Amino acid sequence: MVKYDYLIVGSGLFGATFAYCARQKGKRCLVIERRSHLGGNVYCENVAGINVHKYGAHIFHTSNKKVWDFVNCFVEFNRYTNCPVANYRGKMFNLPFNMNTFYQMWGVTTPAEARQRIEASRKAYDSVGHEPQNLEEQAISLVGEDIYRTLIKDYTEKQWGRPCTELPAFIIRRLPLRFVYDNNYFNDAYQGIPIGGYNKLIEGLLEGVECLTETDFFQSEYRDWRRYARKLVYTGPLDEYFGYRLGRLDWRTVSFRTRVEPVANFQGNAVVNYTSHEVPYTRVIEHKHFETFGPAVEENPQTVVSEEYPVEYQPGMEPYYPVNDVRNNALAEDYRKLAEAETDVIFGGRLAQYRYYDMAPIVEAVLDMSI
Ligand code: FAD
Ligand code: UDP
Repeated sequence: MVKYDYLIVGSGLFGATFAYCARQKGKRCLVIERRSHLGGNVYCENVAGINVHKYGAHIFHTSNKKVWDFVNCFVEFNRYTNCPVANYRGKMFNLPFNMNTFYQMWGVTTPAEARQRIEASRKAYDSVGHEPQNLEEQAISLVGEDIYRTLIKDYTEKQWGRPCTELPAFIIRRLPLRFVYDNNYFNDAYQGIPIGGYNKLIEGLLEGVECLTETDFFQSEYRDWRRYARKLVYTGPLDEYFGYRLGRLDWRTVSFRTRVEPVANFQGNAVVNYTSHEVPYTRVIEHKHFETFGPAVEENPQTVVSEEYPVEYQPGMEPYYPVNDVRNNALAEDYRKLAEAETDVIFGGRLAQYRYYDMAPIVEAVLDMSI
């Protein structure tokens, strides 16, 4: 008999939640992780007394009460509400697109005036009358040309390294558009950051689970996993599992430049987006604002900020965002067919499914599985 029910490759939110649920059912699990720490992309590093989101800012948000209650069992979440601001050539705008943004853009004060401005801009644009075919058409048809040029076009082209006319429309539909004065970036019922950081969540999920770090599935004895476990849970990149035999999937990744600033409050907000192409980074994160509010911000005389530079993925980098263009969608579909044939392997999470998932849907997917 093999020693484990499940060999779990990857200790991100998918692998860790799976390990927790399996352990609750009395299953024996081994988690292997190629990085030197557990937690995948939600891992935080403490710098100058501040939890730094090492792999990019992570804000937990969901409308699913089951998911919210589940994560709150391991660590209490604070009341952080994401309200990013955009800096366009020194002028500040609220995000997502709401009455504050419309006031800052046009001086309009009522929803009716704002709708009129957007409608006028849409009418002047050619694509009216047919379904938006790409991100540019979608953005203009939602918010008009002024907002597209000021807050979307350059940011998106920096983020994805491709013209907006070649990007899928759905990317911009992720952002709320509302005709009320509300800067909350999400429409979900629940939102926050774990008090004490995401590592507490991961530690809670993996408590009592056997874990090995610095262990790459493909470079270790566990490659021959059937000697150790009945089933494999694989959360690494989909194409890598199959030795890239159909070709490589593209990813978009981000390079973070993080530094300590000798001031208590550097930019007054956790997230400031730079929406003009003249600034090479897309946004600056000031990590302390995720966990410190009001006068407490001044208590630590230092602060940690990260500039985010989007880059095209090369082997050896961290794969972050699936690229949903025609070539990659088709290639991923072909890999998914290969994956279906592997009946004793579960392909889970953002990398193995080659799909953009937020944290909450990852947790939800595991809670809904029969393990
Ligand atoms: P990961 O966290 O990537 O974990 C996979 C793990 O598998 C990694 O630790 C990796 O090292 C390991 N691994 C891979 N291959 C191997 C191998 N061969 N052997 C051993 N180990 C291996 N979601 C939100 O809800 N809110 C946000 O604000 C948000 N912000 C984000 C910002 C960025 C920049 C990114 C990239 C994502 C963001 N997300 C956000 C999404 C969130 O990160 C994911 O939903 C979540 O991390 C997915 O968990 P996962 O376990 O699938 O993947
Ligand atoms: N976006 C934009 N301007 C902004 C913020 C976002 O045009 O100031 C667009 C951009 O195309 C981005 C998409 O909206 O890829 C989704 O934004 P989100 O903040 O959800 O991106 P993520 O959290 O995935 O980095």
